[in-house]
Amino acid sequence: MEIRIEKNPNPAQKPTDESKLGFGRVFTDHMFVMDWYKGKGWEDARIIPFGNLSVHPASTVFHYAVEIFEGLKAYRAADGSIRLFRPIENARRLNNSAIRMAMPTIPEEDIVQAIETLVTIDKDWVPHEDGTSLYIRPFMMGDDEHLGVHGISHARFMIILSPSGAYYPEGMAPVKIMIEDEDVRAVRGGTGFTKCGGNYAASLRAGDRAEEKGFTQVLWLDGVERKYIEEVGAMNIMFKINGKVVTPELNGSILPGITRKSILELLRKNGIEAEERKISIDEVMECAENGSLEEVWGCGTAAVVSPVGWLAFEDKMFCINNGEIGELTQKLYDELTAIQWGKKEDPFGWTYTLVEG
Ligand SMILES: *Cc1c(COP(=O)(O)O)cnc(C)c1O
Repeated sequence: MEIRIEKNPNPAQKPTDESKLGFGRVFTDHMFVMDWYKGKGWEDARIIPFGNLSVHPASTVFHYAVEIFEGLKAYRAADGSIRLFRPIENARRLNNSAIRMAMPTIPEEDIVQAIETLVTIDKDWVPHEDGTSLYIRPFMMGDDEHLGVHGISHARFMIILSPSGAYYPEGMAPVKIMIEDEDVRAVRGGTGFTKCGGNYAASLRAGDRAEEKGFTQVLWLDGVERKYIEEVGAMNIMFKINGKVVTPELNGSILPGITRKSILELLRKNGIEAEERKISIDEVMECAENGSLEEVWGCGTAAVVSPVGWLAFEDKMFCINNGEIGELTQKLYDELTAIQWGKKEDPFGWTYTLVEG
């Protein structure tokens, strides 16, 4: 793919205090844009100065939520080099989301090339401090300029970059999770397995209500029987029960996380049994009560691993591992982050150096 490059003539001042970056608030000097027209395909791949878009008020994305996205990170190793972690997996998932949403797909290698080229141009924006990273946000939207309801004939694919602070600036700490018993996030046959903005829109109310009650996030139950565990806000969930790891199977309504997949591969390589299956809320409560529920953690690109210390369901509150970080939870976090930041050899071939130090 040929990418036209228009350098930003007015580069911004890079943040000097990386401890104040937060998440997704600061953006780099450039962005990637490419357009698709029905009958013509993708055209005009370009990297241009970061800035506002001009979008027609009738654009499909505003009215019918035709939007999908991805999230991954570029990591700076101690020697200054910049590394990527399994970007091909994000490219593949973007296309799976696109197919479900009647949006056009993009050759995987073009998506990865666009990410690599943009990150290389804005390489000086990849932060240096421990735990910081450059968050990469590819997204696609329908942009037909009329209100008729049907498959789109114009799409825009874009990538923006945001230097982000460490997820755990004060160290990893177990969180309180509320199991949602009213709202549901997704159903099989719907869009649960896609990374689409609409899934998030429908989840915000429950998230806010949980926060008001002092919880960090909600854990969703399946949308049909409200009986089986699905996932947490933007993370998949895993349980350690009697020495074995159990996580909900990919059933069409949960997001197939790349962190989830990587942890399962890591566990199996280390000889730890990991099951992907249905797990009911009754089973979780029973195991919590009889002491066989040893650890619970969420996993996703942002946090990598997030220990769960408390689970609330209806009027019950379960404390897991005395509200402390579990041994396996900590080990998985240490192993995965060591691979991502290049502190340890990567036996899986998940990472590669994009820019030498
Ligand atoms: C992105 C996301 C995840 C985690 O996926 P990763 O690829 O591990 O970052 C889990 N659940 C939802 C709903 C998500 O959007």
